[in-house]
Amino acid sequence: MENLYDLTIIGAGPVGLYAGFYAGMRGMTVKIIEALEEAGGQPQALYPDKMIYDIAGLPEISGAALAENLLTQLARVPHELYLDEKVENISLDDESKEFKLQTDKGTHRSKAVLLTTGSGLLSPRKLNLEGEEELHKLGRINYFIKNLEEYSGKEVAVLGGGDSALDWSLMLEKVAKKVHLVHRRSSFRAHALTVAELEKSTVEVHTPYLPVFLSTNGLVLQRVKSEEIQKLEVEKILVNYGMMTNHVDLNEKIALSRRGRIQSNRQQETNVTGLYVAGDASDYEGKAPLMSVGFGEAVLAINDMTQKLKFSHSLQTGHSSSLFGK
Ligand SMILES: Cc1cc2nc3c(=O)[nH]c(=O)nc-3n(C[C@H](O)[C@H](O)[C@H](O)COP(=O)(O)OP(=O)(O)OC[C@H]3O[C@@H](n4cnc5c(N)ncnc54)[C@H](O)[C@@H]3O)c2cc1C
Repeated sequence: MENLYDLTIIGAGPVGLYAGFYAGMRGMTVKIIEALEEAGGQPQALYPDKMIYDIAGLPEISGAALAENLLTQLARVPHELYLDEKVENISLDDESKEFKLQTDKGTHRSKAVLLTTGSGLLSPRKLNLEGEEELHKLGRINYFIKNLEEYSGKEVAVLGGGDSALDWSLMLEKVAKKVHLVHRRSSFRAHALTVAELEKSTVEVHTPYLPVFLSTNGLVLQRVKSEEIQKLEVEKILVNYGMMTNHVDLNEKIALSRRGRIQSNRQQETNVTGLYVAGDASDYEGKAPLMSVGFGEAVLAINDMTQKLKFSHSLQTGHSSSLFGK
């Protein structure tokens, strides 16, 4: 059975990552569980290259850089981050007042829970071809680059036509034996500068082609609106077809708002004692689904928990400026 944590945060989007830092700064033992293989939520998964202009103190920052900064801030405090793990159910033991979180990998125990699940589970759009799941298990098909070294000296196909697919191709070009970029349209939906860089690179572009068949040694492509078939022998395939969102009902007792979000009070607590919500997942009169608002909600939730929960160890109070280093 897992150790009992003070706080478990569900969702490592911007709000969950910041909440992890803030709870750690207060001295809570904290764990974050994220379904995706990478942290960062919507800014990292949906718009990594887009600029954000309304985060206080950051005149402009890209989605990916914001996620990276939040991870750097989180690294300042002790915490556990579980990636690629989906929370499926939360239950509260009435006697011990402990939360039990059931995931697709096991169970976790926590005194308090903060839901920062945004608009739901983010998951990569798949190819939907036979054998995809097996090849993913073997590490031959992936939806994220976890470790660039895995591609070193290999022949790789990148599938997709947006900024991220082009960025991945250019990044892989530096380590892979050969990179193929496959897209169903003749033009790319990417920054003109990135397209220009691609044109100067050694990446072999296959447009307009669609993958129609997965074989043991690669892919079979079909030219769009044509019978023409092309075989591509590659050792690894990276799919970049964007993300889908799915709603998961974590506990039937949680009250929802008219908009289908989770209702909370001024302290961000839901109708279940000890279960809090912050960020896009939360709703109340006057709610604005923006990151700066979500960061503040996380602070309100954590400060409320520190008043209400019983801790076996002491918590930190005071401003951050007095808590760390000089
Ligand atoms: C194109 C675009 C541009 C935007 N621009 C701005 C902007 O300029 N400024 C601004 O403030 N906001 C902007 N937003 C909105 C902003 O991205 C969201 O407000 C923000 O991402 C919400 O953060 P969050 O942490 O609450 O949720 P999310 O970012 O949605 O993260 C939630 C995380 O929880 C995970 N999760 C969900 N359910 C589970 C589960 N059961 N188990 C495990 N993990 C789970 C998800 O996989 C996800 O990673 C923009 C949004 C889009 C789409």
